[in-house]
Amino acid sequence: MDQSSGEPKLTLRLVVDEEKNKVVLAEADRDFVDVLFSLVTLPMGTIVRLLENHRKSESVTIGCFGNLYKSVVDMGVDDFETEACKQMLVRPGSLRDVQCKRLKLSINPTDDVKYFECSSLTSCKMLSDFSTSQCRCGKLMKEEVKLREKVEDKIQNGVFVRGRSSFIITDDLIVAIRSTDLILKKLKSAGCGDLSKVGERLIDIGFEEVMTLLQCIFSSNAPLTDALLKKQIPQGLKTCQTPSPYTVRESDESEQVITLSVIMSKHDMKVLYVECGEDFVDLVFTFLAVPLENVLQTSGNNSNFGCIGNLLKSFNDLRATQVSTSEAVIPHYYKCQKQLLNIITAKRQSLVRTSDSEPMVLIDPKSNGNDQSTTEESGFAKRDTKFIVSDDLVITPMNSSSTFCLLKKLQIQAEDLEVQEISISKTEATSLLRASLLTSSALNAALWSLIAKKPEKET
Ligand SMILES: [Zn+2]
Repeated sequence: MDQSSGEPKLTLRLVVDEEKNKVVLAEADRDFVDVLFSLVTLPMGTIVRLLENHRKSESVTIGCFGNLYKSVVDMGVDDFETEACKQMLVRPGSLRDVQCKRLKLSINPTDDVKYFECSSLTSCKMLSDFSTSQCRCGKLMKEEVKLREKVEDKIQNGVFVRGRSSFIITDDLIVAIRSTDLILKKLKSAGCGDLSKVGERLIDIGFEEVMTLLQCIFSSNAPLTDALLKKQIPQGLKTCQTPSPYTVRESDESEQVITLSVIMSKHDMKVLYVECGEDFVDLVFTFLAVPLENVLQTSGNNSNFGCIGNLLKSFNDLRATQVSTSEAVIPHYYKCQKQLLNIITAKRQSLVRTSDSEPMVLIDPKSNGNDQSTTEESGFAKRDTKFIVSDDLVITPMNSSSTFCLLKKLQIQAEDLEVQEISISKTEATSLLRASLLTSSALNAALWSLIAKKPEKET
């Protein structure tokens, strides 16, 4: 696939410290800033998929997200409730897709939103977002439907950014409206008050450059320098400090909880893995549908996140539509029985066909045929299945793995093992989402406080 010829290119003006070969700042127009901001609106699963396709041989390490995504890809369709469950995790849908179609350069081109019905056409009045769903009449819902509603968004000019300003972008991705005053301040703070040391370069930005930039925002503290000037991606994960567990617990008796068995090594009280049912796996799978911006926002404090945090803050300052809530809104079909994250699933609407007046019911593609009446029970993973989830979020159905082999692989003596039952609620779910981005030891980071509270059992 040739993505380099005939593709739209944007131009970026880099102000470079020639001695250090380092970007001081970039001057950009709105089109480029929209492309940059679109990166933080991508669902985490999409980011992993794009980076894996781009890098081919190398595996992607963004905290635990590479492992999590691979677990979904590796699991058989039988381990999910329906085929659509796997589809929606491997290629997460986003409510931003409509907006992103107007980008001058998109690294994640998407099809128009489509709906499907069964071949009984008028009689069943049921719609699915996926062509693999089974209708209540038993037929496959694979006929595309033309609907009256057109999904449009209100912003006329630009995609995310309001107004027609031009912008400056610092090497650590703070974006601001351009002014001479600001440029002078940045030059001085970069030690480039002497303009003779500073040069200017015009860089063409295409698919390749944006992909490299996407990679660098997770691995570099100077993404513009690394992606556009040196054209090299720093190896390994830019490890942020291990996130501290929340200390304040909101006590709410009615709060939903998920119960897990934690398998730990006694000598260092480390979580090795958890054994769990489908609820916990559904929760962790949902992480793939959460946009990057909301992984950061639901965690409250962005200061841990380096240049991704800077980019997000700039996005919130400059975006055309102000967000009133830190909660992510994701498509309706991600709604699960237990919702422990600060995310909202869009309402399931009734839609009307162009040639008809009666509303059609949009189904939950996670359940099939006659199960659709009991939508409350739905989730991604096969019901009544036990799973093993490792510290770095590799998920395996227990029927396809051997506990004995796993313990041997972990090189743990039986007498050093301890099993604890714990219940997690919203606090730990949010911690786990954040930890999944920041560390490869997510379970330990998120569950530590629950485990530490328990007195060590005497043997
Ligand atoms: Zn039907």
